[in-house]
Amino acid sequence: MQKETIALHGGYNKKDGYGTMSVPIAQTTAYAFRDAEHAANLFALKELGPIYTRLTNPTTDVLEQRYAELEGGAAAICVSSGQSAIFYAIANVAEAGDNIIISDKLYGGAVTLLTHTIKRFGITAKVFKSADAADLEEQIDENTKAIFFESLSNPQIAIADIENIVSIAQKHKVLTICDNTVASAALFNPIKWGVDVVVHSTSKYTNGQGSAIGGIIIERDGLNEFFKDSKRYYHFNTPDESYHGLVYTEVPLPNFCLRVRLALLRDIGASQAPHNSWLLIQGLETLSLRVDKHSDSTLEIAKYLESHPKVKSVNYPGLESNENYNKAQKYFKDGKASGLISFEAENYDEAKKIIDTAKLFSVVVNIGDSKSLIVHPASTTHSQIPEDELIEAGINPTTVRLSIGLENPIDLIEDLEQALA
Ligand SMILES: *Cc1c(COP(=O)(O)O)cnc(C)c1O
Repeated sequence: MQKETIALHGGYNKKDGYGTMSVPIAQTTAYAFRDAEHAANLFALKELGPIYTRLTNPTTDVLEQRYAELEGGAAAICVSSGQSAIFYAIANVAEAGDNIIISDKLYGGAVTLLTHTIKRFGITAKVFKSADAADLEEQIDENTKAIFFESLSNPQIAIADIENIVSIAQKHKVLTICDNTVASAALFNPIKWGVDVVVHSTSKYTNGQGSAIGGIIIERDGLNEFFKDSKRYYHFNTPDESYHGLVYTEVPLPNFCLRVRLALLRDIGASQAPHNSWLLIQGLETLSLRVDKHSDSTLEIAKYLESHPKVKSVNYPGLESNENYNKAQKYFKDGKASGLISFEAENYDEAKKIIDTAKLFSVVVNIGDSKSLIVHPASTTHSQIPEDELIEAGINPTTVRLSIGLENPIDLIEDLEQALA
């Protein structure tokens, strides 16, 4: 089935929901068992069914099935935020003494989580250049548990060398995890290019209206085989003492999500609220339509900015002049490049002035909202970072970042015109 159709119907059987057209919100903490035997069977995985909303929920379940189908995966699991999706994806494979290899172009929250917070748990991160991955292979060792990158990165707006990364990872049988938040499932599906695990912050384009925080992890088909005799991933093929000796690879359910659910959601519990799942289901219904529109408007605005005498440069992979243009054409649907764009103002003060004089753009550090957003990273999100590190991360004192919404681009261009005047 095509994506637009999956996004509307996937994972929901109306007969399970009293015939309701809108997926019902199962606003409940727990579920009644038929009897003691039923309860025992559920805990022993002899029978599948809901026990407690920290682990599963019927509304969340619809979103999980729908997303797995949309990304071409075998299973998905929702968590309470994009950050927790990243943490669980890593914690599912790595432990003290292990390392992961992460892209040099990542979301700020992912950088602090993966380089600082998990270091306190004994997991170290090495950094590779995701634009060409030439330095990836030499960094892989026997304790490397994952390679983590963003398909289209936020805030650098760069596209990873996905094919190369995947082929190096496959050669060494190391798991790849791709954050596909900015490209979105509408434009790109990492699993179709051989990626093992996909994560999203569903707070962004999935929700689409800036009304709920959420995260999701999706695994490809065939990961059970990948884990089966692997020494690197021995947790999956040796008994889990925390689950009375369960061996995940002996369970005929997609193992990656299964282990996140049975071990990590059980113990750490960053589960998604059923009401948020419902909001995200509403958003997902129109994902393709919206991301097409976000992309088309952003390209129009990129062309306008590129021709403006007071704009020094524009970074948008939909522009032919952009260094990521060929990758956008290669990987993304119709070469569309989503709604993030940045440009360089004449100087620091000018950048701040643009932020202050734009009227339609709200000064917000979110992305993927239906309303257009603007930020000056150097004086806000990245103000604690020294200038040389900033520039290394691709952020200049003059950088202005926009997340283009669904307003008519004529109005957005008019607003930018007066802000740049
Ligand atoms: C926002 C974002 C995250 C974090 O997601 P939250 O839902 O805010 O926790 C992770 N990765 C990317 C690319 C993001 O844009």
